[in-house]
Amino acid sequence: MPAPRRLGAARRCRSSHAKPLHCNGIARSGEGQAASPMRHPLQQAEYVLTAANDEQLPPPGPPEIAFAGRSNAGKSSAINALAHRTRLAFASKTPGRTQQINFFRLRSGALLADLPGYGYAAVPRELKRHWQQFLARYLATRQSLVGLVLVVDARHGLADMDRTLLAGYLPSGRPVLLLATKMDKLTSSAQRLAHAAVTQAIAEAFPAHVRNVSVIPFSATREIGRETAEATIALWLEGDGNAIVAEVRARPPAKEKAPRSRGVTRGPKRPV
Ligand code: GDP
Repeated sequence: MPAPRRLGAARRCRSSHAKPLHCNGIARSGEGQAASPMRHPLQQAEYVLTAANDEQLPPPGPPEIAFAGRSNAGKSSAINALAHRTRLAFASKTPGRTQQINFFRLRSGALLADLPGYGYAAVPRELKRHWQQFLARYLATRQSLVGLVLVVDARHGLADMDRTLLAGYLPSGRPVLLLATKMDKLTSSAQRLAHAAVTQAIAEAFPAHVRNVSVIPFSATREIGRETAEATIALWLEGDGNAIVAEVRARPPAKEKAPRSRGVTRGPKRPV
């Protein structure tokens, strides 16, 4: 499946404020400005609370999007990139918060649920089972959840826990935006292969739900895929989850900022 094109980029770039905000990278100058909540839907997100069990979840109400991923996949970096911040999601890495769901309020009033990273070996087995069940229940039953952003290290592809999580979530019929991240670490041909491999893995594992999953190349450091991810999340929050999946799939390949080619594929800093 081809990579989706940036959605809405042309429309956005006609704005007189568009260049520094939308066409030229990080929106440093835009953080304090009043913009439509859906333009950069995660911008100005604020930490709200941490939930360790069902009772501590905020009452379902405003639309909610969840971010999930294996530990070290790049979830915090992706959230920070989409929030146009450097340390927002790293609050979730403080001791005591790593195995819980951290909630952030977006300026539209929607909630972002940062789910605990999975696959981290140092967690005691009992605790691991507790949060895996908590996570599975949350994803399968949370009424206000409108979409799941799954962050996968493009170099490693889908992990078993990613499949388990998707198997619990996809029957709900809600959409998934799969960020195949750290693309900047790959040469452009390796990027294409990695994107195709993740797409293929989804098609093989979830043939009945493949239409609900959009796989996009992403990099938190090089701005690959950010506009597509923002546009997708904005449409979910506007109640258009099904339409975006269809639209993303129908579009030709992206031409986002090309990563600097280094000629080599670098490995991870530590094994994942
Ligand atoms: P998390 O455990 O899933 O929240 O992962 P982090 O966001 O903490 O990222 C794990 C490591 O990967 C950190 O060293 C990040 O700097 C690095 N990282 C995350 N995303 C990217 C990316 O898109 N490109 C590069 N080059 N490194 C990344």
